[in-house]
Amino acid sequence: MTFRGDGPLDTSGVSGSGGGGRIAIGGGVGIIVAIVAVLFGVNPGDILGGGGGSGSSVAGQSTSDQQIDNQIRSCTIAKANTDTICRIVATTNSLDRVWPTLIEGYVKPKTRIFAQSVTTDGCGTASSDVGPFYCPGDQTAYFDPTFFATLADRLGGSDAPLAQEYVVAHEFGHHVQNLMGTMDKAQRLGSAGPTSGSVRLELQADCYAGVWAYHADKGPDAMLEPLTQQQISDVIVTAKAIGDDTLSGNNDSEGWTHGSSAQRVRWFSTGYQSGDPRSCDTFSARSL
Ligand SMILES: [Zn+2]
Repeated sequence: MTFRGDGPLDTSGVSGSGGGGRIAIGGGVGIIVAIVAVLFGVNPGDILGGGGGSGSSVAGQSTSDQQIDNQIRSCTIAKANTDTICRIVATTNSLDRVWPTLIEGYVKPKTRIFAQSVTTDGCGTASSDVGPFYCPGDQTAYFDPTFFATLADRLGGSDAPLAQEYVVAHEFGHHVQNLMGTMDKAQRLGSAGPTSGSVRLELQADCYAGVWAYHADKGPDAMLEPLTQQQISDVIVTAKAIGDDTLSGNNDSEGWTHGSSAQRVRWFSTGYQSGDPRSCDTFSARSL
């Protein structure tokens, strides 16, 4: 259990309907993937051989946008401790409480929970294979909840609640970067390689996720029960699983976009220990 108490959740920024359900056909898709792949927490399509659709349905049932939307509206804090969709919703609520206390001018992003594929406003169409992502064009974080099963069953991540919440917090980290203009900076510094803008951006998003975790169980507005060492260890398991070296099975860093397992663990931990977004300056760090 990670969320404390019970009561309603704010679902106003979260939607499961509209836009999804179709995969765009034509030349645009490759470009779209190239654009958004820079921003993903992880791209399972790469390491699952692009075998489309793995884990994009639960027990063979496809879930409609409307069904997801209904489920979102039924979420409560108590349900967030047992239900993945409600866990995503509750985590967005917690993030929207924490970040305004840390940076000026925080504007809430939107969150879209989808099944199989989704059409964004600014980043084209994406399928579940690309994993969770944030689209700067529409300031929206996108999640297919079945990704969490893929993460645990096929990638060696943890299916523990805080490990899932870390993924949500990572995408909100990209939103913070978008608000602060960091994404533009990263784009100028390259999309692949061990010191590329992409790697610095992704490691900073991990660090921001750690900053959120530090604050999420503190103060009168805290939504999380006091975090335990075991829960932090669960996050570390997932952060290790999605390092570029672990995912690719080799140490050729020229293709890296997110950083090594050790780096992802290190930057999440840096944020978690400091609770200060200023400690997450991966762009000035001499050593990542
Ligand atoms: Zn990312």
